Amino acid sequence: MESYPETHLLIRGVEINYLFICKTKLWYFAKGITMEQENEYVDLGKFLHERSYFGEEKEVQIGPIKIDFVKKGDIIEVHEVKKGKSMEKAHEMQALYYIYYLKRHGINAKAVLNYPKLRETKEITLDGREQEVEEAINEVEQIKALSKPPEPVKTKKCKKCAYYELCWV
Ligand code: SF4
Repeated sequence: MESYPETHLLIRGVEINYLFICKTKLWYFAKGITMEQENEYVDLGKFLHERSYFGEEKEVQIGPIKIDFVKKGDIIEVHEVKKGKSMEKAHEMQALYYIYYLKRHGINAKAVLNYPKLRETKEITLDGREQEVEEAINEVEQIKALSKPPEPVKTKKCKKCAYYELCWV
């Protein structure tokens, strides 16, 4: 753990998220190719965030990671607000990456995924999962280093994806 390279902590949380949604999407995003539709989804996330959690400290930027908000108790809580659970694995790994990152900087934290539409929360801790995060980080770096996007695979996620036209038209 101590010898883990610091350069591995320069990736963004959303890149970990996209690794578990679509590797092609991750590559486009990492290369700075953004589409307008992508922004609409970000705005909806912010809207849910403001309506449901107004009053909390929000959108904290720590190094390359941007966290929805942080609540300080005995331990720091990293909160992520999500619209639904269809991409739960991606949400979970993004949150794990945040607490992993904070731990590497000497801060003990846990994460809480908030699903305001479902009125549900899910608590996530790093216990025994550091290797899982490191494997995800390595895979993100390998994909970002590719000279062309990984071959797209059509799934039901494509319909709502901002990169649909790049992959399929
Ligand atoms: S359209 Fe589908 S294959 Fe292409 S980037 Fe989006 S999710 Fe991935």
